[in-house]
Amino acid sequence: MTNLFEEDSYLKEFKTKIEKINREEKYIKLIDTAFYGKSGGQPGDRGEIIVDDQKIEVLDTIKKDGDIINVLKDKDIGEIKENSEVVGKIDWNVRYKHMRMHTALHLMCSIIPLGVTGGQIGFEKSRLDFNDPEKKINKEELEEKINLLVKDNHYVTSEIIESKILDEKPELVRTMSVKPPQVDGKIRLVRIGEVDLQPCGGTHVKSTIEIGRIQIGKIENKGKMNRRVNLLLSS
Ligand SMILES: [Zn+2]
Repeated sequence: MTNLFEEDSYLKEFKTKIEKINREEKYIKLIDTAFYGKSGGQPGDRGEIIVDDQKIEVLDTIKKDGDIINVLKDKDIGEIKENSEVVGKIDWNVRYKHMRMHTALHLMCSIIPLGVTGGQIGFEKSRLDFNDPEKKINKEELEEKINLLVKDNHYVTSEIIESKILDEKPELVRTMSVKPPQVDGKIRLVRIGEVDLQPCGGTHVKSTIEIGRIQIGKIENKGKMNRRVNLLLSS
């Protein structure tokens, strides 16, 4: 299986074949996929799969035993066959918002030099939780700094490295609760210009300018090690 979204996060439509169908659990696995499987705080993609001119709705995309699988409706899964040629279409409105949100969270993380204890990307708002017992995070200052980084038009790129290199640079791993995804002893690093570098398997925009104006929402206290910073986009 090739994860097409890792090479090109802007791929909205792709051709492939159905590798496996699980009718009991109502999911299929495609040979190659541009559908992002729910992980690392980023929701799974929705969209549709077209088989012989028939449109089948993809309700969700998740990871199961390392595979990326598409969850389908009961009535649709009965109709399809393994090895059929299909066209996959990503619900781009939702996914592109997730890409902008995701990249914005990297920027937030680069500004706040504290351990990350949690996070979630959403369509309306996203959040990161920080270990901030002294309440150092300031909403106005953060909003000003993060919007400057957006305007600076930093390019976002990714590279694959041996995961053992990461053992020598543990400071790259900002999340205290989530282990970065490893495949065959390799790990994907996402770099935002000179601003941020960290292991990540998600989808991002090409340049920070695409994020647009960021609004920092409520900062909530969610326990000793959790200060939750909410983030919204203006469009
Ligand atoms: Zn990321």
